[in-house]
Amino acid sequence: MRLTALALIAGSVALPAMAEEVNVYSHRQPELIQPLIDAFTAETGIDVNLAYVDKGMVERLQAEGDRSPADLVLTVDVARLGELKDAGVLQAVEDEALDAVPATLSDDENQWFALTTRARIVYASKDRVADGDVTTYEDLADPKWKGRICTRTFTHDYNVALTAAFLAHHGEAETREWLNGIKANLARPPEGGDRDQVKAIWAGQCDISLGNTYYMGAMLKDDEQKEWADSVRIVFPTFEDGGTHVNVSGVAMTKASPNREAAQKLMDFLVGDEAQSIYAETNNEFPVVEGVPASELVASWGEFTADELPLAEISDLRPKALDLIEEVNFDG
Ligand code: FE
Repeated sequence: MRLTALALIAGSVALPAMAEEVNVYSHRQPELIQPLIDAFTAETGIDVNLAYVDKGMVERLQAEGDRSPADLVLTVDVARLGELKDAGVLQAVEDEALDAVPATLSDDENQWFALTTRARIVYASKDRVADGDVTTYEDLADPKWKGRICTRTFTHDYNVALTAAFLAHHGEAETREWLNGIKANLARPPEGGDRDQVKAIWAGQCDISLGNTYYMGAMLKDDEQKEWADSVRIVFPTFEDGGTHVNVSGVAMTKASPNREAAQKLMDFLVGDEAQSIYAETNNEFPVVEGVPASELVASWGEFTADELPLAEISDLRPKALDLIEEVNFDG
């Protein structure tokens, strides 16, 4: 802590006890995080300073170096967590409480930990797609979907991770074929975000799309988008030899963390039952800790079996996946 250093310089000056605090850089919107932080401060008396960092998290931490005030980073997607690790701005945390997070959902060197999961699923038109018409990711390349699929760009992190998972299951040649197959089935060139694809289904432009589960919750809460949501149902596809692809939101401790102990307390809190419920509910995600139920809405989307491929392995395959996406000129 900085004041301790000042005290040393000034000689042995008695300092009043400092209130503990934690500094968090969050890529997630403050309204998602604030309820958690309030609960943590109420329970521990530790203050949390939240800075919303929308863009350039890695660059900012690198520029700040040892002087960074940040203790923890909250972000989404294995891609972003992997980037932070690769940039060398994180530190490993060994901590029993964090063992509650399944190993397949965390970094293999304990540099980041999942806090919630989201599945990458198919949104299918209630009117034009029958039950059982789409059951696997492999199936999306089937010519029966010609002119019927909408998606956001495949160079987006969410689709890169899905492609990396496909690559882990099937290898390079089959992945290339799969990408070309989906591209040939597109109703229009990739554009917009996951919700825009559901809007396109609602408007009759396509019949199925890829998207993350929580967008269903977000659309249902929006007056305009509710209609889009009502026109589709969620299908949990699986890999032919696996389960449904999931990605995570997560937490990591920065290498420079000035308040390590308090930061670790916040990490422990985030994997506790109370925080898991709050966090999962606020953004319609799935808790990662066993025994904590999903919200009623999220549970209503049905049960699925998550793919067992470790996310760390998917993260390692991201560059190769992106190469293939660019090679087939998916968005072109
Ligand atoms: Fe998202």
